[in-house]
Amino acid sequence: MGRVPRFECLFCELCCYFEDPVEMPTVFPKEKRLLEELAEERGVSLEFEPLLVFRDGEGRCAVALYRWVIRGFCPFFDRGTRRCTIHGSKPLACRMYPLLLEVNTGRLMVSGKCEWVRRMGRRLIERLNAQPQLIPRVFPAEFDAARAAFLEAASALEYAEKHGLKRVDSVEGCSEVYDFDDYVTRFG
Ligand code: SF4
Ligand code: SF4
Repeated sequence: MGRVPRFECLFCELCCYFEDPVEMPTVFPKEKRLLEELAEERGVSLEFEPLLVFRDGEGRCAVALYRWVIRGFCPFFDRGTRRCTIHGSKPLACRMYPLLLEVNTGRLMVSGKCEWVRRMGRRLIERLNAQPQLIPRVFPAEFDAARAAFLEAASALEYAEKHGLKRVDSVEGCSEVYDFDDYVTRFG
């Protein structure tokens, strides 16, 4: 297979600054709740939008994934040290970066915006596209996070299919809205 580089974050602050909604982190309900607790302790407010929503036959909705809406720098980013101040608690989307996961399909991609990836040059991306089995060697910890996110999303999708929940675009018109895990606990 030949030698492959191993990812080393350059702590360049690029990936903790957001403008485009599609680049904002996606978080599972339990991650959202943890972030809200941490934000409360620090006196900051956070904003989330439902992203992956299912509706049951009674009109109740369950949110399996949220977009964490961050405008500018993440409130947990310390610009002085260029470090995440909640490193041990940060969501899977942050842990997997520069890997990007399309939860619906399980497709894994490497972000060309990451400074380390850019410095490695186009050939690395081309090689990983041709040999995706190398991704865990280049990004071992990030791959583990992406796998955990994939399993979490797959389990929600499987539950929804098994219980006849329909995917909807938003929570508009829902009679009640629950976090997905809460919905499962309440309604089995
Ligand atoms: S939680 Fe940490 S890693 Fe994620 S965007 Fe915020 S500062 Fe960056
Ligand atoms: S853009 Fe890449 S190298 Fe820079 S801080 Fe983010 S993960 Fe690290």
